[in-house]
Amino acid sequence: MIELLQIEKVYQGAGAAVHAIKGIDLSVRRGEIYGVIGKSGAGKSTLIRCINMLERPTGGRVMVDGQDLTIMSERQLREARKQMGMIFQHFNLLSSRTVYDNIAFPLELAGKSRAEIEQEVAPLLDLVGLTDKRDQYPAQLSGGQKQRVGIARALANRPKVLLCDEATSALDPQTTKSILELLKDINRKLQLTIVLITHEMQVIKEICDKVAVIENGVIIEQGPVLDIFTKP
Ligand code: ADP
Ligand code: ADP
Repeated sequence: MIELLQIEKVYQGAGAAVHAIKGIDLSVRRGEIYGVIGKSGAGKSTLIRCINMLERPTGGRVMVDGQDLTIMSERQLREARKQMGMIFQHFNLLSSRTVYDNIAFPLELAGKSRAEIEQEVAPLLDLVGLTDKRDQYPAQLSGGQKQRVGIARALANRPKVLLCDEATSALDPQTTKSILELLKDINRKLQLTIVLITHEMQVIKEICDKVAVIENGVIIEQGPVLDIFTKP
């Protein structure tokens, strides 16, 4: 589903250049839950943002579902990105919009009618367990509920891939567990491929099939979680 081939990322700023990703290869199969773990500054966020080209790699190829994203025009890329939903550590919800309207947002951008939007959003609310919160605003929700909105919004375009950028790092352990359960549930029900980055070993052990360990922009180990780490 995802093939990263010799990905490089060099940030050029006012100061010295930062070589954040140094020749990473990564292969994620359809339906897999793939985790990337590493310390702060290791390059996790850069790497996951290279998958949907929010960050343009300075070298290498990004293949998603057989298509090379690195040779696409901006217009083709906008289309290809619909295959990939993303969720974030701080949820990134629109505070002036209700739960329903946050989830509807990507569908509005895609030019869907009100009826089509209702048809998509209602089952998503149900899937994430927030049907009774549809008219609430983000400020009225707990952290876990906010992330459930984030997940539903990420699924609105019916993507094949879900990218999770430290999606549980702002949540307490119990809420983390419930969000990971939900992700597992979605992975099974929708046959969704999930890539997540985290600095927490427990997240990897809880839901990942495969793991890559990243250090200083290099993958130092990768394989099935059971081979790399022993479960508790
Ligand atoms: P992680 O997600 O593992 O904490 P990041 O991908 O955020 O790591 O960062 C990897 C390296 O790239 C760090 O040295 C960081 O300071 C640097 N970096 C990240 N984003 C930028 C940027 N926009 N400009 C310059 N350097 C950056
Ligand atoms: P938080 O810790 O932020 O409150 P929860 O995990 O408790 O988040 O879930 C938020 C709401 O979603 C709760 O009302 C819960 O009952 C409901 N909920 C949780 N999981 C499901 C599910 N799989 N299906 C339906 N509703 C759920």
